[in-house]
Amino acid sequence: MTGVKNIPVGVKITTENKCGFCTNSKCCTYITEELATPRSMHDFDHMLWQLSHRDVHAYKDEDGWFLMIHNPCLQLLPDGRCGIYEDRPLICRQYTNEYCEFDEDSSEGFELFFDSYDSLLSYVKKRFKTWGKFAASRDEFLSKV
Ligand code: SF4
Ligand code: SF4
Repeated sequence: MTGVKNIPVGVKITTENKCGFCTNSKCCTYITEELATPRSMHDFDHMLWQLSHRDVHAYKDEDGWFLMIHNPCLQLLPDGRCGIYEDRPLICRQYTNEYCEFDEDSSEGFELFFDSYDSLLSYVKKRFKTWGKFAASRDEFLSKV
């Protein structure tokens, strides 16, 4: 379990009380956006730009490729409650705590994970033997557009 307050002996964790024992409300501290599956060097070149930005990571799991942007929701109150609970968006209402990051960190399901420009660059260099040539010809590519 991640981000868990001390659970008193004898207390059974249920979906009703679980969020009250969650210290960091991790589900409200980042967003993910699905990516079209990157295939070409141009696709990965674009991802390198995305991962050059602070707190932007990427991963691949059984559902595909995603950007993960670590940035807490501005509606999250210091005590972990939602400041707009009655008016929270649909996606927040659809999220269930039946099996969430309280139980297992989402990274457990990652097949690939990139936490930086450097980690992604290392991957693309291994994936594409001609990456160096591509990278060196970016300006030439632009001059033809
Ligand atoms: S849904 Fe899960 S991760 Fe989110 S606040 Fe509740 S227990 Fe924590
Ligand atoms: S709106 Fe509320 S429930 Fe939704 S992410 Fe923000 S704090 Fe969490």
